Amino acid sequence: MSNKVLVLGEVRDGVLRNVTFEAIAAAKQISDGGEIVGVLLGEGVSQLASELIAYGADRVVIVEHPHLKTYTSDGFAQALLAVNDQEKPEAIVIGHTSLGKDLSPKIASRLQSGLISDVTEIEGKGEDAVFIRPIYSGKAFEKVKIKEGVVFVTIRPNNIAPLEKNTTRTGDVLSLSVDIQNLRTIIKEVVRKTSTGVDLSEAKVVVAGGRGVKSEEGFEPLKQLADLLGGAVGASRGACDAEYCDYSLQIGQTGKVVTPDLYIAAGISGAIQHLAGMSNSKVIVAINKDPEANIFKVADYGIVGDLFEVIPLLIEEFKALKV
Ligand code: FAD
Repeated sequence: MSNKVLVLGEVRDGVLRNVTFEAIAAAKQISDGGEIVGVLLGEGVSQLASELIAYGADRVVIVEHPHLKTYTSDGFAQALLAVNDQEKPEAIVIGHTSLGKDLSPKIASRLQSGLISDVTEIEGKGEDAVFIRPIYSGKAFEKVKIKEGVVFVTIRPNNIAPLEKNTTRTGDVLSLSVDIQNLRTIIKEVVRKTSTGVDLSEAKVVVAGGRGVKSEEGFEPLKQLADLLGGAVGASRGACDAEYCDYSLQIGQTGKVVTPDLYIAAGISGAIQHLAGMSNSKVIVAINKDPEANIFKVADYGIVGDLFEVIPLLIEEFKALKV
């Protein structure tokens, strides 16, 4: 039997995040020929509907409201539940992002549905779909199915390939009016930390530094390498605690979870809490002075050496290759 699947489009700075397109691809597999309904919540987001359709949504439902301009769990939950009531889908897919992690338990509890979070792979399709997710900080994987009710999943960014964009696809776009009320929190102002370049959670290349980077200035060569490779800079908690960089860069159990194609760990010892956030990266390169460092146990390529000598050499080589 084919399923109707709702996919929440996640918008940041006026653009759809990549994980949305990955969620549509996951929804296609879950729907097995059923309908994919993209959902846009916000203010001034309607122009993004065509992009959802180009990536595989059959239809889009938009809820626009001044209270949805900035994310609050109360506001977004009311809007998404209203869409759910109207559409009555068999499944819902959301990105396993900060927003998805906050919103999904609230929706699941209201719907009295199961929730499978942080899915990295889906086996089978339609009713037979089985969801694979890491457990024990990525040391093992479990295969999960929801026996009854709405199949509600959040998917980890960078794991499920999006479908090819097809701008000739068409689909209906419908506006739904929802009276968003009784918000327990109102966002008065969002003050941004200066962050430039590629989003760490979705980056295809991450160059991460640890306490071995030794100072804020020590991160400069890592930034240069990341820029050259079109990637983002990350860090261990050791580097954040030492105030070499901002906590928004922290990767690990209590930081961000990343799954880039290439993870370069420089001056990071490889504590279990750090590995929890990066060990599923596709290719791991570790640079460390200590040949016994734990990071080498998960590395595909290990370079024993001083990062301040190795990274400039890598920059030189990549420049010569004109990547
Ligand atoms: P260190 O362990 O000090 O390692 C520095 C490394 O740099 C060493 O291996 C050294 O050989 C190498 N080095 C030094 N100089 C050079 C050089 N010039 N060139 C090359 N290599 C060099 N940590 C996280 O990262 N993320 C988390 O989310 C996280 N959550 C935690 C949660 C809890 C509850 C706890 C208890 C801890 C958590 N930690 C986390 C901390 C974690 O246990 C480690 O303390 C931390 O990861 C160590 O950071 P580090 O590898 O940068 O520093």
